[in-house]
Amino acid sequence: MISVIIPIFNEEKNIPLLFDRLTQALKTTNQSFELIYINDGSKDNSLSIIKNLAEVHSFVKFINFSRNFGHQIAVSAGLDLCKGSEVLIIDADGQDPPELIPQLYSKLKEGFEIVYAKRNSRKGESILKLITAKWFYKIMARLTSIDIPLDTGDFRIIHRKVVDQINKMPEKQKFLRGQMAWVGFRQSFVMYDRDERMNGNTGYTFRKMFRLAMDGITSFSNFPLRVATISGFVCAILGFFLIVYTLYSRYVLKDYEPGWSSLMITIVFIGGIQLIGIGIIGEYISRIYDNIRNRPLYIVDETNCE
Ligand code: UDP
Ligand code: MG
Repeated sequence: MISVIIPIFNEEKNIPLLFDRLTQALKTTNQSFELIYINDGSKDNSLSIIKNLAEVHSFVKFINFSRNFGHQIAVSAGLDLCKGSEVLIIDADGQDPPELIPQLYSKLKEGFEIVYAKRNSRKGESILKLITAKWFYKIMARLTSIDIPLDTGDFRIIHRKVVDQINKMPEKQKFLRGQMAWVGFRQSFVMYDRDERMNGNTGYTFRKMFRLAMDGITSFSNFPLRVATISGFVCAILGFFLIVYTLYSRYVLKDYEPGWSSLMITIVFIGGIQLIGIGIIGEYISRIYDNIRNRPLYIVDETNCE
């Protein structure tokens, strides 16, 4: 069976459209399937539309979160509760075309555990989003030892083996495409052109994107922590030469000014470096704290999954 995980945040207009496209594409694989809708605290009618679908079709499952927990957590809930031997993750807004499913599926059957969809082009996205995404992946590639494929999102089909491994990972900061790159197995991809959203607006605000980027970097790299140490060393070395120079001009050249400005510059500079260092350490500590607090990742209000 193929499980399809569909995170939903204010997608009332897109749900019926996507449902038709999905079921049609899935039928061509000749496999049984289930659709798992995770309602991530939508403020529109998404939930009642999903529930109606679930009443009519036994293959429709839904999970209703008690509030908005975020896209990555919604997908994680789907991974927890899905039953299929193959699992497909897809956005609800039509940007990930369901028509690609047969290709993804047959590639998986060629003997891969992960087949992700790689974007040829992206339509209908703001320039800001394109630029920030591009830089984010460049920085990720430099900072981390895992190879997160470029130009991919979470649109992919994965084997049960991968799902079981991901579900075993206890961390609360979910950056699924990074975790999936990390688990290994045989991975491949299929190219596609990314469409515009069918209806509505993006649920990924700049704030949510920034969170995702910080989770991605801190989950897979200790480099930011090391930046604090490195800049500390650089400052110390510069400071040492400054002391030598000051003493030299004071006692040998006897040419000096009461050094108010240089003092200020130094204090401000060192202060800045220290704050950066503390901030970076804080980022990691807050994540450690999230994990030892051990709160549930999400709260289910209502579901028809067993
Ligand atoms: N989404 C979600 N929770 C959120 C934001 C988004 O479940 O807090 C869902 C949304 O309904 C969609 C998918 O995640 O199915 C991708 O979101 P969106 O299209 O808004 O992001 P973008 O494509 O602009 O990156
Ligand atoms: Mg989208």
